[in-house]
Amino acid sequence: MPLSVPQALDLLKSAVTPSKPSSPSPVPSTPRSTSKAPAATTSTQRNLSAFAPFDRDQFVGRLATFKAVFWGQLPEEVCEFEWARRGWVERRDGRRGIDCGLCHACVEVVWDWNRLREKVLEDRRMLAEKKDEENSVAEGGEKENGIGEGPAPGNHAENGAENVMETGQLSQFDDDIFATGAADEDEGTTLLLKYYTPLLSSGHKSKCPWASKSTDTTVLRLSPQLLSLLNLQSRLTSLSAILGSFPSSERTFLPKPLPVSLPSSLTEFDPRIIQAGVAGWSGQILGKRGLLTCGTCHRRVGLWTYTKEDGDTLNLIAEHKRYCPWINAAVQTGMAGWEYVFASLEPKTSSSKRGREGEDEGEVKQNRIKKLREMLKSLKK
Ligand SMILES: [Zn+2]
Ligand SMILES: [Zn+2]
Repeated sequence: MPLSVPQALDLLKSAVTPSKPSSPSPVPSTPRSTSKAPAATTSTQRNLSAFAPFDRDQFVGRLATFKAVFWGQLPEEVCEFEWARRGWVERRDGRRGIDCGLCHACVEVVWDWNRLREKVLEDRRMLAEKKDEENSVAEGGEKENGIGEGPAPGNHAENGAENVMETGQLSQFDDDIFATGAADEDEGTTLLLKYYTPLLSSGHKSKCPWASKSTDTTVLRLSPQLLSLLNLQSRLTSLSAILGSFPSSERTFLPKPLPVSLPSSLTEFDPRIIQAGVAGWSGQILGKRGLLTCGTCHRRVGLWTYTKEDGDTLNLIAEHKRYCPWINAAVQTGMAGWEYVFASLEPKTSSSKRGREGEDEGEVKQNRIKKLREMLKSLKK
């Protein structure tokens, strides 16, 4: 790793400590195992917003730009996954928000209704003043949600990166949601969603192709190659290096116990390593400490928080981000990624009956699907 230890720890802090704004680390986190693009294109100034809605590497690359813990705490409708699907990357100018490398629109995300409202009203005042000056009437009622809309061109022309609302977006809220403050958090969240959800698309400039298109969630699907035994083995090798950082096996959790008889190529590995590998994790060493990393959702899990005496159980599923195809069956389509890998380790048909003590195969499958559903339900909570 080209990271020095202090750099690495900084990077780590921004990734693992909740409620801290992301530090503007100069070190790009290189997409790991899943990215097959040559290093030259991933490490430099590739425009991740270039319009390629079917490109998985681009999508994963955009997701990787979202470093602040903040994103994962937003409601699902406006979390980083939804922004990245529509071409956005996290802003790097110190403001919390997103920008588009293609049309250069940007949106600041102020997740506090009363503060946001103040800002918007202030922006409106300034805009009105400017308009008076120009004495032009270039305002128009826009279609709701702004898909494919064309706000007044004048507003687009000189859009700096200054305001919450940089474009003609101010005009799209017909029933003035800014009229009142929020009485409580629930109301605030409702209003914030009403405000930000349309911006996923209409935040782009009208000519930007991302204004009317988005990447399908299944583009993130793990390829058969990523789910293969060969790929598992390379994850296991990286994980072996951090075995010493793992919590005890009682405190390492995968929803299903590993099959008793494993493929011979895996028998040399510690069961915890296999569990983590099946769940899609790779291992990385930072300083002397072990870290789990996911090449798809870019979660980085510092294992030391789990090896403390009063540490929690390491849940290898719940540690992925909710959209991650390693755990999200809807994104992966069919089963979650880890379930596919797990299934490939199970003894084939005839012997699987023995392992399950009399349950017939259909039953086993049913149970598996049921458990998976329950698991996903609990993850959504
Ligand atoms: Zn755009
Ligand atoms: Zn993941």
